[in-house]
Amino acid sequence: MHPLVVAAAALVVVAALPYALFGVLYAAIRPSGSPADKREAEPTVSIVLPTYNEERIVEKKLDDLLELDYPMEKVELVVVDSSDDATRDIIRDYFADLDAPDLTLIEEDERRGLAPALNEAYEAAENEMVVKTDCDSYLPDDVLREAAANLADPAVAAVTGRNVEVLGGSGVEEGYRGIQAYIQTLEAHLDSTFIFHGPFSAFENDALVPIDPSSLADDTELALRIRRTSGKRVIFDPAVQYKEASHSGFVKRRTQKDRRGMGLIRLLVQHRDALGRYGKYGRVVLPFNWWFMIVSPWVVALSVVGVTAAALVTVDMPGLLVPAALVTFVYLGQRDSLGPFAPLYSLFDTQVSLARAAVELLRGDY
Ligand code: GDP
Repeated sequence: MHPLVVAAAALVVVAALPYALFGVLYAAIRPSGSPADKREAEPTVSIVLPTYNEERIVEKKLDDLLELDYPMEKVELVVVDSSDDATRDIIRDYFADLDAPDLTLIEEDERRGLAPALNEAYEAAENEMVVKTDCDSYLPDDVLREAAANLADPAVAAVTGRNVEVLGGSGVEEGYRGIQAYIQTLEAHLDSTFIFHGPFSAFENDALVPIDPSSLADDTELALRIRRTSGKRVIFDPAVQYKEASHSGFVKRRTQKDRRGMGLIRLLVQHRDALGRYGKYGRVVLPFNWWFMIVSPWVVALSVVGVTAAALVTVDMPGLLVPAALVTFVYLGQRDSLGPFAPLYSLFDTQVSLARAAVELLRGDY
């Protein structure tokens, strides 16, 4: 056999192995729902909302929060605002005649970045459960109760949820959401999940710790630090749900995805000393994320090159079908026309984005 074929086959096996292992673990454990011992609870809640120039949507967001099924006397809203548009006036007017919830409005004179703003808001939050949400996401009525039920388990310090709809999003994004929910459910059942989502995450106030002011993955960093310092689990519950608005425009979506990738890669590297510690979190969950975010994008890229080269040298003209199929796959994926193969493309797209993020990080572009 041609050595290139052997090399390409080996690369494909290496690329697929961790996913196969993941599949075996999934089949063995059959995780579903939350791993927490959930029970009804009604703690006091601080909802932290960072805002930067959100005058177009902030009122809708406040409407959405006030409609949550929860006694509003038990809720405070902590807004940290760095806008130079009318956002904070709109918020102040909105609360002028409201008895509940209480409003704490932190007004920043200049935009210092999201992580320092959040540190300040978390410091100001006084209630037992601290919920972080973004302006452009929408929450179902039961979300606070579902989160509180998870935190009622004394072994759990934080919970994040599932993105059930990308408003204005594509099939590719939808495909990826499904894959991510499987991964996060298994991670949570093993111990804790790695990624925490900006549109909805809930934390025990007592467990909060400051995050790196230059963080590009603030929610995930907070959860990781909590897992390390509190010794409690930070989990994923698919019953905790939210809807997120997709950025309009391909370039903006791409930039956001790459930035998120950079934040996660940097975080894993910064916290490399956690590998192998903290039970299955450091022994299985973090290594899997290292593989998925840092190693796999390059193995996938090498596999694609290897398979193409092997096809070309061994089967002459028909070998051209391999690169042609790849180009068609990417073209159809970009146009969102892959039907049942959309999740596969979304995985591929994520790996490409992570490779780009790594290059940008190495070049110091952030
Ligand atoms: P995206 O909307 O998912 O792209 O995420 P962003 O990181 O842009 O924003 C998440 C939330 O943080 C939104 O509610 C923004 O208004 C808010 N936000 C973004 N940057 C800043 C900032 O520098 N300061 C403050 N206070 N809020 C911010």
